[in-house]
Amino acid sequence: MRKRTTGLLALAATAALTLSACSGAEVGGSGGGDDASPTGSAGGDSIRIGIKFDQPGLGYQDGDQYTGFDVDVATYVANELGYSADQIEWVEAPSAQREQLLQTGQVDMIFATYSITDERKQVVSFAGPYFVAGQDLLVAADNTDITGPESLNGKNLCSVTGSTSAQRIKDEYAQDVNLLERPGYSECVTALTGGQVDAVTTDDIILAGLAATPANAGKLKVVGNPFSEERYGVGIPQDSDQCQAINDAIAKMIEDGAWEEAVTTNTEGTGYTPNAEMNPPSQDACA
Ligand code: GLU
Repeated sequence: MRKRTTGLLALAATAALTLSACSGAEVGGSGGGDDASPTGSAGGDSIRIGIKFDQPGLGYQDGDQYTGFDVDVATYVANELGYSADQIEWVEAPSAQREQLLQTGQVDMIFATYSITDERKQVVSFAGPYFVAGQDLLVAADNTDITGPESLNGKNLCSVTGSTSAQRIKDEYAQDVNLLERPGYSECVTALTGGQVDAVTTDDIILAGLAATPANAGKLKVVGNPFSEERYGVGIPQDSDQCQAINDAIAKMIEDGAWEEAVTTNTEGTGYTPNAEMNPPSQDACA
């Protein structure tokens, strides 16, 4: 009886959808915004992917163009899940907003230099990792006294709110360092070039991309003494059933050479080479 009612309701719903489709009404009007699940989507639907918009070589927006390693991995994975590049809707996912974007269903997946951590796993899930970076320091090209995290005594440092980079400074070096927090790393670089801070700290691959931009080239350098392991995961909502499919797609990308090519093209000219002992990484088992 119960089944039958459900069946009839489903039938009625289908009829209503068909009718509204025929009349030209927007079928996805209400569903499009709320349905955070990329599963079971019919062709024509899009997938919303959170990336950074201001990290050259990783996630970068230039007009309607999106480039970078995170963008390339996301595009490959989305394709394996059945979404073509033009079905991807890129959404800006600043460090401090990533968990909330996933929890509120505003994005389906996040590829945004997003480290897998136990704390974040309390509220979101992760597929991957698809890359391993390390926290490092960016300083003026002629700086000689900052050589690593142990040489930050009395220095002014900039990092980003909601990042593991800022958290590590607070947890491990807070007594000795003045930490300025900004919403994005490009703002931190502005503080560095403007002489407001002595160094910027976050993952080496991010710093390398920022240092290599035409505006900064020759003025800044990455110290090159990484002091953490940042395992980049694909953020997904906790109730997602996509973890295994995403892991399979990442493994395939590594296997067929597209991962290597994406790393090479996106780090070209930055002087950055990934830590070969940790890359490419194997993926964690899905919970
Ligand atoms: N990977 C670190 C994190 O997830 C730092 C980079 C970032 O803020 O995106 O917090």
